[in-house]
Amino acid sequence: MDEKNKISIVIPLYNEEESLEELHKLIKVVLERNSSDYEIIFVDDGSTDNSWEKLKEIKKRDPFVRCIKLRKNYGKSSALAIGFNHCTGDIIITMDADLQDDPEEIPELVSKINSGYDLVSGWKKIRHDPFIKKHTSKFFNFVTSKISGIRLHDFNCGLKAYRKEVISSIKVYGELHRYIPALAHMQGFKVTEKIVKHHPRKYGKTKFGASRFVKGFFDLLTVLFTTRFIRRPLHLFGTLGLISFIVGAGITIYLTIMKFLYGEYLTNRPLFLVGILFIILGVQLFSIGLIGEMITKSLNTEKDILVKEILD
Ligand code: UDP
Ligand code: MG
Repeated sequence: MDEKNKISIVIPLYNEEESLEELHKLIKVVLERNSSDYEIIFVDDGSTDNSWEKLKEIKKRDPFVRCIKLRKNYGKSSALAIGFNHCTGDIIITMDADLQDDPEEIPELVSKINSGYDLVSGWKKIRHDPFIKKHTSKFFNFVTSKISGIRLHDFNCGLKAYRKEVISSIKVYGELHRYIPALAHMQGFKVTEKIVKHHPRKYGKTKFGASRFVKGFFDLLTVLFTTRFIRRPLHLFGTLGLISFIVGAGITIYLTIMKFLYGEYLTNRPLFLVGILFIILGVQLFSIGLIGEMITKSLNTEKDILVKEILD
């Protein structure tokens, strides 16, 4: 690990009172051995158990610890975002509070960043999670990797390392924490993965219900729209609209020819309605694309363009 860099550990937590002492101890051992300048930021995402009291005790003993408590439970992404806003390190490590992620991995994540990567994402190659979660995750990872164009096995690992430029340019909200590596990649950052140890949950149970799957899917759409198409909405809607319009026009032209050549009735054929439907849909999609273009033009999207270096 490089001595010069300040390390910030950001830990979002929601009702994890049993794990905190142990987690703090484990992280401390690793950091004391490897780094002189660091901070450990706990973000209490509106816990209703004794997590905050536990954190206050830890803070009393350890000046390197900083604690933030949110007014209510906003979700992991928001907790991470607040942690990112408050951290002062050059390299930021995020990890879960439930002892599933292993602090012993921190030095290697940091050296990967020092070797030139902007984001290193953990890959829980051997996972200790329930059967259904393991398999839906596989599917999500596959789809996200296809759509975003970055080949990672495990987008949603809590254990990740970032260069500070990454966290200052990516906005996380909703359940977007799952897609940070995809967002970072699409913004031109160098992203890689590293196999990490994963442990079964020691105390309590998972804080996400089955709704994680639905929300995760919608967030994937958001990621797509806000990265790939925000600058050119017409590219998406215009293409879809044009395809729909051509199909609809083809159908109605065919029906018109059949009517004039063979005297077939138009009105008793379902295909007639389908043709009209496609034409209207096509025009509508096209119009949405145009409106999107107008909105994009009036927004200042240049501020989202990231400059890496300038030589004057
Ligand atoms: N978490 C959070 N806010 C929430 C839900 C979860 O800060 O609304 C934290 C949680 O305390 C843990 C991490 O996010 O530190 C990952 O959550 P969990 O272990 O429940 O998820 P899983 O391991 O099942 O993916
Ligand atoms: Mg967990």
